[in-house]
Amino acid sequence: MPNKKLLLLSTGGTIASVVSDTGLVPGESGEQLLHMLGDLPYNITVKDIMELDSSNIQPEEWKIIAEEIYHNRNEFDGIVVSHGTDTMAYTASMLTFMLQNINLPVVLTGSQVPMNVILSDAPDNMRIAFAGAANCDPGIYIAFDRKIMRGCRSVKVRTTAFNAFESVNVPPVAEVTSDGFSIKNNRLPNPGKCQLNTKIDTHVSLVKLFPGFDPELLRAMAKHGCHGIVIEAYGLGGMTSIRRNLVAVVGELIRKGIPVIASSQCLYERSDLTKYEVGRLALLEGAISARDMTSESAITKLMWGLGQGMDVSTITDFFNTDVAGEVTLN
Ligand code: ASP
Repeated sequence: MPNKKLLLLSTGGTIASVVSDTGLVPGESGEQLLHMLGDLPYNITVKDIMELDSSNIQPEEWKIIAEEIYHNRNEFDGIVVSHGTDTMAYTASMLTFMLQNINLPVVLTGSQVPMNVILSDAPDNMRIAFAGAANCDPGIYIAFDRKIMRGCRSVKVRTTAFNAFESVNVPPVAEVTSDGFSIKNNRLPNPGKCQLNTKIDTHVSLVKLFPGFDPELLRAMAKHGCHGIVIEAYGLGGMTSIRRNLVAVVGELIRKGIPVIASSQCLYERSDLTKYEVGRLALLEGAISARDMTSESAITKLMWGLGQGMDVSTITDFFNTDVAGEVTLN
């Protein structure tokens, strides 16, 4: 069987970083990364599309990455995107919405230590990313520390350790163990035609609730043109309803046409607004539950939905829909 044809899109990040007077900065090209990796059993084409620390990857860059993937989707068997780890989960989540029904595996990866440092985690991460791009079902993934996770379920949970990413609320889709490379739980239902849709609304906000939070801040956001808000609420999705009555302001905003999504500050498991009074009150005001989505997925889904011109009721339906494996509905 001929070698799989894979594309490496390099964007920067620690994996490609070099030491400079001002600190680590991306400086190695995709070709240099591949060269340091040594021989791989694939036919790999490389394209450098940007050279950025991922703290500087923003909606403009998401669009460029999505377009590159879309325009190359029929020329290759799989695509690897090398990317900084800090915002990789946001990029992977947004690509999930911008490239629905993607027809090939797209695997993002990075590392905690630059590729050019001995004992870096980069070679392992890149190798498993290429293995995923060659073997996984179509979808957007993150490969890290011998695991491949669905991109829209991945979260960076550690700043320096090699096991920096976790697949939250669903198991990883593939793992390397002493038994080899095993892929499970991979195919998404209903594959249709792949669509590129990069229209998003960036006038959104992600707010973490804390005791004493002043609900006036939400009003100020709305006044300054915020079109949608994700609130990381307490536990199952509870919000303050006495003295600093956040619930009332949430209702006010929703009636003005600004969707408010309630996710949980707890990384694991789901939000469920039906259990406690403090959740039910928010639900009665029209708050939308993010269920078991990551905050990265919730905010990018909101941006994408608003970008399509969805109103509060359509956003509610959209959040009650599993687009690409980002949410568990029942
Ligand atoms: N600051 C780096 C980045 O996100 C961190 C990394 O890649 O690990 O680009």
